[in-house]
Amino acid sequence: MRRIYLDNNATTPIHPQVADAIKPFLNGLFGNPSSTHFAGRDVKASYDAARAGIADMIGAKTDEVVITSCGSEADNHAIKGIACMAENKGHIITSTVEHPAVLNVCRHLETKGFSVTYVPVDGFGLVDPDDVKDAIRKDTLLVSIMYANNETGTVMPIRDIANIAHERGVPVHSDMVQALGKIKVDMTDLGVDLASFSGHKVYAPKGVGALYVREGTHLGSLVHGGHQEAGRRAGTENVIGIVAFGKACEVAGSHAEEYNARLEMLRKRLLDGILERIGHVRLNGHPTQRVPNTLNLSFEFVESESLLFALDRKGVAVSSGSACSSGSDEPSHVLLAMGIPGPVCQSALRFSLGWVNTDDDIDYVLDILPGIVGKLREMSPLFQK
Ligand SMILES: *Cc1c(COP(=O)(O)O)cnc(C)c1O
Repeated sequence: MRRIYLDNNATTPIHPQVADAIKPFLNGLFGNPSSTHFAGRDVKASYDAARAGIADMIGAKTDEVVITSCGSEADNHAIKGIACMAENKGHIITSTVEHPAVLNVCRHLETKGFSVTYVPVDGFGLVDPDDVKDAIRKDTLLVSIMYANNETGTVMPIRDIANIAHERGVPVHSDMVQALGKIKVDMTDLGVDLASFSGHKVYAPKGVGALYVREGTHLGSLVHGGHQEAGRRAGTENVIGIVAFGKACEVAGSHAEEYNARLEMLRKRLLDGILERIGHVRLNGHPTQRVPNTLNLSFEFVESESLLFALDRKGVAVSSGSACSSGSDEPSHVLLAMGIPGPVCQSALRFSLGWVNTDDDIDYVLDILPGIVGKLREMSPLFQK
């Protein structure tokens, strides 16, 4: 059976060039980069070069990049790192559509005495920078708003949000995990103080991430111990992870335009094809302010879980909402926050395309999907032709 993977926002396959780059570190190059002897020196240079590659990709200085174990850790480090430096338990501003790695950190801090404002989004999933402005208080410690949403692909006006927060002297963090490699991510241009990234969303293996920390930002540590990462994150370096992440950034950096133009074209074909063949479908997220690979659609009168299983049986992997909430019957917090009615949220499917997807993949989906949706709708008591 054909297997078509359309869940690249959950994770991506390892790029062949990335796999090649880490081979020497699986076979022979094992040193601890903090060691001064030959074994350490052997890997230190690669470690440094990989960090420089990540910095280059995001328009940062090399020593502004802290390597973490994942995107979630980077989010935790940014928010808790700011919170723990504060003299008083202050106020944090975030949005209602953040990834759980941001939302649940904020909820945790609320139980510790911090206060949090969750600014709303509009029907497209966009935060209004003026709402952020209005939410800023004297004791606001941080604004944390994501750049690209993982469920809908909507891209937030992060530069405007950063400008507004900075006018009031408030630092800004942004979860940029889903933006990296898909749209231009440049720290100088976007102006944020902290930004989170994850390797496995950009064709590197799982278990490595990065936190951008603008020079001069006062940030506490999450993991105390040795002096690694300039004392900002202890633990013997994940050499294989960073070498992979560095290579992935290099690949993304040199092919981004070509790859993303193709993804944009494939996504458009998929959307147009579905709208042509199937009725009662609605697009979730912003029609144009979005990353190229993500398509979130509600197939009304159909439960997304049933749709997901039927597609899986035909060898097509998609997701309902996000990987982090699949398996639960709860409708997506992101779609609910956009004001989409519960039943429509529960009929949402996310197609997230990746570099390996082809025209044939799209044709196959367009071939099987109308039949699947039709059959499920026939069984739905709510559906009237
Ligand atoms: C996947 C993802 C994360 C978490 O990254 P991990 O490396 O899996 O911990 C955080 N934020 C967003 C937007 C994501 O899509």
